[in-house]
Amino acid sequence: MATFEATRPAVGAQALGIARAAYEYSLDYAKERKQFGRAIIENQGIAFKLADMKTQIDAARLLVWRASWMAATRTPFLNGEGSMSKLFAGETAVRVTEEAIQILGGYGYVREYPVERWHRDSKIYTIFEGTSEIQRLIIARAISGVHIR
Ligand SMILES: Cc1cc2nc3c(=O)[nH]c(=O)nc-3n(C[C@H](O)[C@H](O)[C@H](O)COP(=O)(O)OP(=O)(O)OC[C@H]3O[C@@H](n4cnc5c(N)ncnc54)[C@H](O)[C@@H]3O)c2cc1C
Repeated sequence: MATFEATRPAVGAQALGIARAAYEYSLDYAKERKQFGRAIIENQGIAFKLADMKTQIDAARLLVWRASWMAATRTPFLNGEGSMSKLFAGETAVRVTEEAIQILGGYGYVREYPVERWHRDSKIYTIFEGTSEIQRLIIARAISGVHIR
């Protein structure tokens, strides 16, 4: 379990890379795509999605960096910080890639564009190297000292 805590930040970093790709692609697309006489990013409904995506990605990155630093310096993970990084980065990747599909509309759903692939790829990060439920279990046990089931 201690080993997993130290390897999870690297898995979180992978998820983060997928989220970042989807964010950057959909940001470029939103500036380029015109509907009803203006770029779709000029609508708050689209711009706010991108603001949330960027905020969540940056938060996930900071959790990954913290846990990576702890692993590299052999600092004890007293609050499940390794699990936190993987949990948040994995779920961020799922949310961000789904929003990227929405921003591309029909092109988000078809295989001619890379975004639907990123969404499928992201989903494994809530399952392997410990599911999201198990990450929450580890964090809850660490912060409470209670053997929560
Ligand atoms: C593509 C892929 C690659 C993989 N690579 C590896 C690998 O390299 N090495 C490796 O060892 N494994 C690997 N796995 C296995 C992966 O780690 C497991 O699928 C994962 O741990 C979940 O186990 P499970 O599928 O048996 O689901 P289950 O344990 O049956 O869980 C099913 C659901 O119940 C939930 N659940 C189970 N127990 C609890 C509990 N106590 N509290 C709350 N919720 C609970 C789970 O979170 C999940 O949502 C891989 C899986 C896939 C799909």
